Amino acid sequence: MKRAEEIQKAVVLGAGTMGHGIAQALAQCGVATTLVDLDAAALQKGLAAVRKNLDTGVEKQKVTPEQRDATLAKLAGSGDLEAASREADVVVEAVPEKLDLKRSIFAKLDATCRADALLATNTSSLSITRIAEACKRPERVLGMHFFNPVHIMKLVEVVRAAQTSPQAATLALELSRRMGKDPIDVKDSPGFASSRLGLVIGLEAMRMLEQGVASAEDIDKAMVLGYGFPMGPLKLTDLVGLDVRLSIAEYLTKEVGPNFTPPQVLRDKVARGELGKKSGRGFYDWKN
Ligand code: NAD
Repeated sequence: MKRAEEIQKAVVLGAGTMGHGIAQALAQCGVATTLVDLDAAALQKGLAAVRKNLDTGVEKQKVTPEQRDATLAKLAGSGDLEAASREADVVVEAVPEKLDLKRSIFAKLDATCRADALLATNTSSLSITRIAEACKRPERVLGMHFFNPVHIMKLVEVVRAAQTSPQAATLALELSRRMGKDPIDVKDSPGFASSRLGLVIGLEAMRMLEQGVASAEDIDKAMVLGYGFPMGPLKLTDLVGLDVRLSIAEYLTKEVGPNFTPPQVLRDKVARGELGKKSGRGFYDWKN
C-alpha cells in the first residue's frame, strides 16, 4: 500500500454537501481528484460549489489565486464510477446515508479498484464493519468521517472497522493530515465519537422547540452564549440537512436505543421537503 505522500489519484463519490468539500480538500493538497455523481446536475452544482469556496478564499486572502488555480487544475468531474475508480489510490464515498446503497457501491468498488486502493466511507453513523463485509478486501476499508463545511472544518474521524488493517488506518490518518485536517482514531461503533453525542443535543433541541420551551433562535443562543458552542444545534441541523439527521436518528434508535427517536417536528419537516439550507428552509429560512 502507498504512503500518504505517494497518493496521486482519488475519487470522491457523491457531489453533494460533503462530497464536493472532500474533493476540494484532496485537490487542494495536490491529489488529482475525480468527483463522481450519477446526477449530472448535482455534479455541476458540486464543482461550482468548489469554485465558489475557492473564490471566497481568495477574497478573504486565505487562498492565493495560484492555489485556487492549482486546485481547480487537479479537479475533474465524471458520471462514470467504473472508469474513474480504476486507477484510484483512494476512494471516498459520500452518497446518502443508506446501508444497502453503500454496501452495493463498495461491492462495485471492490470489483473495479486496484487491489491496494484504500476504500473509505464518509458515513456519519452506519456500521463500517457491515460496509466492509461487501468487499473481498475488507482490511482496506474504513471510515473517513469529515465535517461540514469540509474546506473549513479540521476534524476527520478515522473509523476502524473490525477488519481494518493497522496499515490502512495509519494511511487514512496520514492522508487526513496531508489534507490539512486533525484526525481522531475511533473504533467502529454506531454514531462513532461525534454523531452519537452531537445528535443527542440536536434531537433534544427539537423536542424543546416542539414543547414551546423557546424559539429556535433562543434555543440556539442558549448553547452559543451559555455553553460556548460555535453554532446552535438547530442551525447546525439546517447545515447538515434534516434528511441526513433523520436517517442517522433512525439508525441510532435501532442500534443504540430510544434516546435517538426522531421528534415529530423533524419527520414533518422532512416530509414537507424542508431539509435545511440546501432546500432554502429548515428550522430557519435560508432563502435570503
Ligand atoms: P447529499 O444528499 O448532499 O449528497 C449525496 C449525493 O450523492 C447526491 O448528489 C446524489 O446525487 C449522489 N448519489 C446518490 N446515489 C449515488 C450513486 N449511486 N452514485 C453516485 N452518486 C450518488 O448528502 P451529504 O449530506 O453530502 O451526505 C453524504 C454522506 O456524508 C452521508 O453518508 C452522510 O451521513 C455523510 N455526512 C454528512 C454530513 C453533513 O453535514 N451533511 C456530515 C458528515 C457526514
